[in-house]
Amino acid sequence: MASTDLWAQRLLPFMLYLSTTPKILQQLFPDLVWRIPTNDKELYLSFDDGPVPESTPWILDLLAAFQAKASFFCVGQNIERYPGLVSRIHEEGHTLGNHSYNHVSGWGTGLTEYVRNVRKGAQVAKSNLYRPPYGRIRLAQSRVLRHHYTIVMWDVLSGDFDPGIDPASCYLNVVRHAQPGSIVVFHDSRKSIHTLRQVLPEVLQYYSDEGYSFRAIDAGALCKHAVPEVVAYS
Ligand SMILES: [Zn+2]
Repeated sequence: MASTDLWAQRLLPFMLYLSTTPKILQQLFPDLVWRIPTNDKELYLSFDDGPVPESTPWILDLLAAFQAKASFFCVGQNIERYPGLVSRIHEEGHTLGNHSYNHVSGWGTGLTEYVRNVRKGAQVAKSNLYRPPYGRIRLAQSRVLRHHYTIVMWDVLSGDFDPGIDPASCYLNVVRHAQPGSIVVFHDSRKSIHTLRQVLPEVLQYYSDEGYSFRAIDAGALCKHAVPEVVAYS
């Protein structure tokens, strides 16, 4: 078991930067949510790192135009800074999840400090859905957090965070790999908005034409086994 864990830990950093998450990685970390099991034509778009005024309102407007729902994994500091955007996310029927308090990386951060940061983010976000920044989470960290939060990863990475990516490649990363139930990662950040303005309308149009609906991750359904609050790491 220990050797399997070590192997999985070494694979994780490499595989998470592929545009589609390999099945083997999903099987090695079965407690993490990689996609939503369904055969229906539904996609679960997600946006990390916001909310910020330069990006989030434009995304919300576009989603509304396509009658699309999505999930926003927000940084605690941004939630505190932009409460009006948080209200919009809720009022427009999207899901708001936790992306840590200040975008901490699991690598190089001790267990207690990491869990404390995630807990602070969860309290600010008022959410038990958690997505680790950079996808960087150690096995020991996930083993503690999974008892209290539902850890949501992805099976399709758009690559919009890469300043060197051309929009066509970003678009193809999505449409080549997404399938019913896929969780797709974008970013509502200042860094990604230039790419997103070109790619997101095309993705929404393509899958609308294909008969897909765009759904928000159902926090209630995913978190039913999670304990609401962490008390051990205050
Ligand atoms: Zn992030």
